[in-house]
Amino acid sequence: MRRLIAGTGWKLNNTVAETRRYAAAISSWATGKALSNIDIFVLPPFTSLHAAHAAFAGVPVAIGGQNMHWQDAGAWTGEISAPMLVEAGCRYVELAHSERLQFFGETYACVRLKVDKALAAGLTPIICLGELQKEKAAGRADTVLQEQLLTSLTGQASARIPDVVLAYEPRWAIGSAEAASPEYIAARHGALREILRKYYGAEVAEETRIIYGGSVTPKNGKAILEIIDVDGLFVGRAAWKPEGFIRIIDLVR
Ligand code: PGA
Repeated sequence: MRRLIAGTGWKLNNTVAETRRYAAAISSWATGKALSNIDIFVLPPFTSLHAAHAAFAGVPVAIGGQNMHWQDAGAWTGEISAPMLVEAGCRYVELAHSERLQFFGETYACVRLKVDKALAAGLTPIICLGELQKEKAAGRADTVLQEQLLTSLTGQASARIPDVVLAYEPRWAIGSAEAASPEYIAARHGALREILRKYYGAEVAEETRIIYGGSVTPKNGKAILEIIDVDGLFVGRAAWKPEGFIRIIDLVR
């Protein structure tokens, strides 16, 4: 059985002080709750990672970076490496988020190198996959997803694949008014599971988690979670405040 995931990426939000308040709210809510059957992660901005690690210490909430470089160290101004994330207490790292691709020119060729480094450092890469609106309109969604997935995982042994988390995040549904429909999500997650089966075998397909992100809210989250191939929710805006994330965690647990 795949463990379900409740995760949030804070993007460019939550200072150190706000991070401490957020974690305090989650911690007081979590006291006495059964949370051991799911995985919970929060992805703060880099400057809040240390504070988050300390502040979430008493609850089963793991932290992760929102990006990283594919080299450990060197002349790479403005970058952060896998060992630095590990040192800050991270267990996860998000890779290939749509905003990284759109505004910072990242490519899946780089993502592949980052996946390699993340796994070697013991981090769980959360690899975002998703089609643009025009690719959806052209009926190319599954082709695009396959290209992104296979490029990201090139060179990985099948046995390593279940160590990554795949995040299906249709690029047109991120930061928008509505999530993709449950039918549409079911079709894409089913396609991703099938691609895993075809290239890495039935066992890998069965074990690898695929979570959905893109305008998830406490309202639409329940129907999305009921989809057979959806293994969790990955939330932006609706979980930037602790009250929102608590409602999401409550759906998943
Ligand atoms: P959103 O962001 O929930 O605000 O649409 C999701 C994401 O970017 O992962």
